[in-house]
Amino acid sequence: MRRKLVIGNWKMNGNRAANSALLSGIVAGLNDFGADCAVCVPAPYLAQCQQELQGTPVAWGAEDVSVHSCGAYTGEVSAAMLVDFGSTYVLCGHSERRAYHHETNELVAQKAVAALSAGLTPVICVGESLAQREAGETEQVICAQLQVVLEAIRPEDVAKIVVAYEPIWAIGTGMTATPQIAQDAHRFLRDCLAKKHPAAAEAVQILYGGSMRPENAKELMAQPDIDGGLIGGAALKAADFLAIIQAV
Ligand code: PEP
Repeated sequence: MRRKLVIGNWKMNGNRAANSALLSGIVAGLNDFGADCAVCVPAPYLAQCQQELQGTPVAWGAEDVSVHSCGAYTGEVSAAMLVDFGSTYVLCGHSERRAYHHETNELVAQKAVAALSAGLTPVICVGESLAQREAGETEQVICAQLQVVLEAIRPEDVAKIVVAYEPIWAIGTGMTATPQIAQDAHRFLRDCLAKKHPAAAEAVQILYGGSMRPENAKELMAQPDIDGGLIGGAALKAADFLAIIQAV
């Protein structure tokens, strides 16, 4: 039985005061909802998360990681540095990084390898654009995005990844995928995993991301292959984030 997981993606939002209010609001409102919960935050706020979340049920992590372990890579943050601040998760290949930083499937795969070698859980983000969906290319696109990662990581590490299906047309747009569209994509991704890794395919959590809100979370989470959510906008308000976790 896979545990449900809800991860907040803060993107480039926050400041120390607002973060503190948000984190304490989440911690105060968490009951034993039976789901795991984490926040992925801008790297400068990892220390604050470590300070404020240590000993609580809320895990934390980063939104990106370098493929390099150390050295002359100005501006990069290594997986070991994320671990140094107590991180558990790191997002790899969010569509905003693929779009604005030209991250390729190969680079995303290298990031997953770097994360796993440091003991982090990479959250591999995959998803199609509206044009790709309309052209009937969704399965081809998301399978290719996942496949490159599966070929790069060690077979024994497959069960350690988390996959996030995030249709680009649904991210930050208010256009949530219907539960059936999301379920079909999740089932397809699980089948892709199962081709070479049948046991891991049953263990890997596949999260849905794209305008998930308290009002639509329950129906999405009720789908058999949706194991939780990657939440952007709604993760910035403690009440909304908690309501989504509760919907799980
Ligand atoms: C995201 O950025 O991963 C995301 C799902 O954003 P939103 O929930 O705002 O659509």
